[in-house]
Amino acid sequence: MIIKPAIVDPELSFTGTLFRLKPRKIKKLVQHHTGHPTWDIYDVHKYHVNGKGEYGIGYNWWIAFDGTIYQGRGWHIGAHCQEYNETTLGIGYQGDFSKQTMTDAQLMAGAALNRWLISQLTNLSVKDIVAHEDLIRIDCPGQHFRMSELKKAVQQSDAPN
Ligand SMILES: [Zn+2]
Repeated sequence: MIIKPAIVDPELSFTGTLFRLKPRKIKKLVQHHTGHPTWDIYDVHKYHVNGKGEYGIGYNWWIAFDGTIYQGRGWHIGAHCQEYNETTLGIGYQGDFSKQTMTDAQLMAGAALNRWLISQLTNLSVKDIVAHEDLIRIDCPGQHFRMSELKKAVQQSDAPN
């Protein structure tokens, strides 16, 4: 039994209508860094509106340094990976992992979230956890993103207990 992790609703307001994802179309869980050393979820939300012209934060969920998981767009179509937004979920992590290292709390929270999503999307497995740069040419989520540890943590707790 995989338990849904605690997800904080930051009550963001979006500037346009969001559309529900079709769970059966989802093929990958895309991991991103924010690409900024200090921005919190409200800063990211603001930037995605004012800097990128989106309706609001583009990630489906976002994980702070302290391991708090925030709802971004949730199960609505994201704006995090061009041409893949309807077939993927985007998880953003606070920080710039080209310079910083993701925290242990982020690693644990990321594992809990990805594990729960895989349990909800029965056609997905740990191999469907991918980096943004696995899909398009971009430097994201940065060289210090702990991808192999993340996958290992998801897999380990996948084991029947
Ligand atoms: Zn990215």
